[in-house]
Amino acid sequence: METTELITKNLVESAHDVVIGIDLAGNIIYCNAAVKSIYGYNPNDLIGSPYKRVLPQEKLGEFAAITENIMFGGTNESIESIRLTVDDRRIKVSVIYSPIKDDIGKLLGISAVERKLTEFRKAQSRSQALIETAPDAMVIVNSFGQIILVNVQTEKLFGYSRQELLGQEVEILIPTRYFGNHAQHRKQFFSNPKVRGMGSNMELYGKKKNGAEFPVEISLGPLETEEGFLVSAAIRDITERKYAEEKFKRLLESAPDAMVIVGEQGKIELVNGQTERLFGYSRKELIGKQVEVLIPERYRQQHPVHRNGYFTKPKLRPMGANLELLGRKKNGEEFPVEISLSPIEDLDKTLVSAAIRDVSQRRYIKQLEHKNRELEQFAYIASHDLQEPLHTINSFVGFLKQDLHDGSEEDIKKYLNYISQASARMGNLISGLLQYSRIGKKRVLTEINCSHTLKEVMSNIQGSIQESEAIINYSELPTIKAYPTEFKQLLQNLLSNAIKFRKKDVPPVITIGYQKDSEKYTFYIQDNGIGISPKHYEQIFIIFQRLHLKQEYEGTGIGLAQCKKIVELHGGKIWVESSLNEGSIFYFSI
Ligand code: ADP
Repeated sequence: METTELITKNLVESAHDVVIGIDLAGNIIYCNAAVKSIYGYNPNDLIGSPYKRVLPQEKLGEFAAITENIMFGGTNESIESIRLTVDDRRIKVSVIYSPIKDDIGKLLGISAVERKLTEFRKAQSRSQALIETAPDAMVIVNSFGQIILVNVQTEKLFGYSRQELLGQEVEILIPTRYFGNHAQHRKQFFSNPKVRGMGSNMELYGKKKNGAEFPVEISLGPLETEEGFLVSAAIRDITERKYAEEKFKRLLESAPDAMVIVGEQGKIELVNGQTERLFGYSRKELIGKQVEVLIPERYRQQHPVHRNGYFTKPKLRPMGANLELLGRKKNGEEFPVEISLSPIEDLDKTLVSAAIRDVSQRRYIKQLEHKNRELEQFAYIASHDLQEPLHTINSFVGFLKQDLHDGSEEDIKKYLNYISQASARMGNLISGLLQYSRIGKKRVLTEINCSHTLKEVMSNIQGSIQESEAIINYSELPTIKAYPTEFKQLLQNLLSNAIKFRKKDVPPVITIGYQKDSEKYTFYIQDNGIGISPKHYEQIFIIFQRLHLKQEYEGTGIGLAQCKKIVELHGGKIWVESSLNEGSIFYFSI
């Protein structure tokens, strides 16, 4: 054969570029030896197969458009495209398509001359190297949802080999029941690609080759490449974390107290069943709410200050030391609680767990115990003090018996006098006791104008006010809800004492006023009298306890015990501040 002839014959066959002849039905009718060196196919295997065998899914449209263009006589520039090798690698090529015509210009087919572009492989291997260093399983997907790159972590996590995954739809990695939705979401992502977590508020699952499902966390990022937008998905297996979370939740549920887990902004992040039962809210109603919903309205405003304070120095401790803490149920009911706080370090943020215990029962028992002790004391003191005049009477009756025949009339009169004084005192004590025990028997809560009550009291004790030349200062007092008879008795006892326990030769100056805070009124009665030593602050409120002989200051020792009972009946407290010779201030809160 002549050289010219030989050259002509082998010209195409030995070209470095791939040359393919395609008929109008889209089948390969010729390809040169380069398909072996570049795409890995034996030319004979390709001949007769459809041309789309070497095209990746997303390039089918491109080829269809070009065929159409050529059929209608258009020309084509060289374009860049992707080819699939026999082992499913993707390689980037530049292609020129041309029409193949016969002598009279009739279109017979299309030729494709395809040259491998080396930068792409480099770029691909660079991205491959890059994603191999990622700690998560990385899957890169094109806009058709096909997997075009995975790392070794993906192989390990899902149990597929790289070859099995490349070119597959990414849905192969998720449980079948999510297929439909997923394709939808995928399209949406491509229409607005940005870095974000996937399925916020949703539990996501991956599916291994063997069908096993496992919980995952996925973050998505757009990747702009020569091939258009791709999506990179970083997939993390969170089985361990889920397990730890579950364990934590179970622990929480098994706690005897209501447990509320709160974030730095005071948002409730987690509660247990006991919380639902104690407060009457469902879990759903609480999660995401401010923790302040669980406390009475009047404390809500100041609570965040304490809360923020705790977060700056979180450590295990009881809450509100020395304070009576109250919880608030959904129905508005309040109840006493005991709370201990402890911080939980959670990855990057601090959470606080509050263990809340309803102590109404315990407090009630304590109150009962206290009342019991008071009663015992009462019985002891009452019998002791009643014994005293009885004793006196007894001894003088003895003297009388002895002196009846030979004693002087004067002595006998004296004894009889002592006897009648002692029985009068005993009568006083008994009626005082009776009065004391009747406090609160027939109580009716009424709106009372305290200024009116005070004026009534002052007119009742008009005599001693005038006699002592007492000066009584008072401001306008509020209108409150109280038990009228008892409240009047309270004021009267305190005012009488303020006058009675005056210094000799110093006329009493007495001031009556009040303060109001969010919860209560605190009244005070201040005098300039003899004062009380701090060691007697408690004792004076006990029945029959007096600091003076009856010769110095008259009295039964019942007045302040009465006051205490009345104030407690109103749910309040009474106390004194004083020092000897300096006057006293009696306070009571209602
Ligand atoms: P009584 O007045 O019958 O003695 P109270 O129960 O009213 O009994 O008071 C008990 C004691 O408290 C009094 O004996 C007195 O020692 C002391 N006390 C009460 N009020 C005052 C006061 N305003 N100033 C000083 N001491 C007081």
